Parts: sequence; structure tokens; C-alpha cells
Amino acid sequence: AAKSTRGNQYRLYRDNMDEANDKWLLLETKLHQALKQDRLELHYQPKIDLKTDSVIGMEALLRWYDPELGHIPPDRFIPFAEDCGLINDIGVWVLRKACAQARQWNESHDLSLRVAVNISPIHISTGGFVDMVRSVIAETGIDPNLLEIEITEMSMLDYTEDLIDTIKQLRELGITISLDDFGTGYSSLNYLKKFPVDVLKIDRAFVRDIVPEKSGIAMISAMISLAHALNLQVVAEGVEEEAELNVLREHGCEYVQGYYFSKPLSVEDFTNLIVNTVTNKSSY
Ligand code: C2E
Ligand code: MG
Ligand code: MG
Ligand code: MG
Repeated sequence: AAKSTRGNQYRLYRDNMDEANDKWLLLETKLHQALKQDRLELHYQPKIDLKTDSVIGMEALLRWYDPELGHIPPDRFIPFAEDCGLINDIGVWVLRKACAQARQWNESHDLSLRVAVNISPIHISTGGFVDMVRSVIAETGIDPNLLEIEITEMSMLDYTEDLIDTIKQLRELGITISLDDFGTGYSSLNYLKKFPVDVLKIDRAFVRDIVPEKSGIAMISAMISLAHALNLQVVAEGVEEEAELNVLREHGCEYVQGYYFSKPLSVEDFTNLIVNTVTNKSSY
């Protein structure tokens, strides 16, 4: 009897494996189709300059809605895309779309907004990345000084001389490089010294700890000081409360992003924000 139970368990396990495999294939097919059929979408979250309280740019954030599966958050499908090999094609699509959109907004409204694009460490480590970026810049006509690339801290773990070289080349083009989710990865301060970035993005996990915990404030303050000591600018992510904003301001943080100001917006809503801000500059 024991034997047959084990047999059943084995079969059950196999069935689950097959099911997981089917799901994986379905998701891969769907994501591939969504990309090919231009059904992915970018939303844009404003970045605020705390010196002027104005919108200086926006981060492009990918959205995927599937009629059967519903909204699938990027935290779930980006790692999946990295596993199944779709991430590079997605990265090129996002870069093209975001650059073209930024150029259009800047031209139509006489602005100099800087657009930030998230790029997977896998993609940036792929040969030909810089050439691809160069051709997207040429094709879309974006001023490279108004383009920012966000890379997660994770990539520092397996950083190589090649990666450092790629980042240097991107910066020579005028592109701003940001280290995303700072403080949540595994990087040592030594890596940070070697890694030629322009901006540190303090992860929301630290911003959330600001109030009312005093240790949270000490941590944020130390991170901002560290960034400034290394000549880096600081963006705080996920600012939701005025109290958080006040602490960040007090400690010299340059830029913020978060629901306190705005959620990521559709193209239509971001256009409205621009129009309202341009016609009523005091609103921010
Ligand atoms: P991220 O680059 O760190 O982006 C910040 C995330 O925080 C976004 O989540 C944003 O919507 C969310 N957020 C912004 N303000 C607040 C706030 O005040 N409170 C809270 N609770 N959340 C806030 P989202 O859009 O779900 O993206 C999650 C992650 O997926 C991103 O983290 C990024 O790592 C990745 N991702 C998104 N779009 C892309 C893309 O086009 N390419 C790549 N490679 N990764 C992407
Ligand atoms: Mg980001
Ligand atoms: Mg982040
Ligand atoms: Mg993140």
C-alpha cells in the first residue's frame, strides 16, 4: 500500500510539473504576442525637483494587460522575461517608445523633461547594447542629455569590466545612469566607488521607515550623505506622506517620486498634467 501511495504521489508531482510547464509556455506565448502586437503599455511617473517643486522628468514603467489573465505586474513578468529570453526585445521596445514619447512631449510643450527607462542588467550586459541605444537616439531624435537609464543594484554583484565600460560609453553619449533600488541589493560600498553612476535611487523600503522611527531617519540621512560624498544626486522613491517629504527635504535630497505627488500616469493623464502645469506653474 505504501508503495502505491508513493506511486500516486509521484504521478501527482509529475502532473504538477507538466501543469507548471504549460503555464510557463502560455505566459511566454502571451508575452511574446503582446510585445509583437504592440499591446504593452508605458505609464509615466513624474519626478519632482525639491529645489523648485517642479516636474523635471518621469520614469517609464511597463504595464501588461492580458484579456484572460488581467493586469500582470512588472515585478512578476520582468523576472519571467529575463528567464525566458524576452527581456532584451522588451528593453528595446521600452527604450524606443519612451524616447519617442519624451521627444514629443518636449517638442509640443517646449519642455526639457528627462525620461528614465528601466533596463535589465542582463540586457545592458549584452554585446551591442550601446550601438542599439545610439540608433534609438538617432531614430527618435531625443537629446541624450534628456535620457536616463535605471539599473538595479543587483547587477553590481556580477559586475564586470565590460559592464563598467558600457556604462562609461553611455555616459559619454550624455545619458544619465541611475542606480535603482539602492540599499536593497548586495552591493558593497567598494562596488559603489567603482561603479560610474550619476544618481542613487533610495528604495521605498527606507522611505517607508522614515516616520515615526528615528533609526529610519538616521538611515536616510546617512544614505544621502554617502551619495553626496560620492558626488551623486539622490532620488527618493515611493514618497507617500508629507512627513516623509519634509525629512527628505531637510536632509538635502534633490528629487522625489511617489504617490504623494502622483502615481504612474497613462500617456493621456501625463499629457494633462503637463498641460495643467504649464498653464498654471504654481500648481507644483
Ligand atoms: P522600480 O523601477 O523601482 O519602480 C518603482 C516602483 O514603485 C513602480 O512599480 C512604481 O509604480 C512604484 N511606486 C512609485 N511610487 C510609489 C509609492 O509612492 N508607493 C508605492 N507603494 N509604490 C510606488 P511598478 O510600476 O509596479 O514596477 C515595479 C518594478 O518593475 C520596477 O521597480 C522595475 O524594477 C520593474 N520594471 C517596470 N517597468 C520596467 C521596464 O520597462 N523594464 C524593466 N527592465 N523593468 C521594469
Ligand atoms: Mg526604476
Ligand atoms: Mg526602484
Ligand atoms: Mg524595484
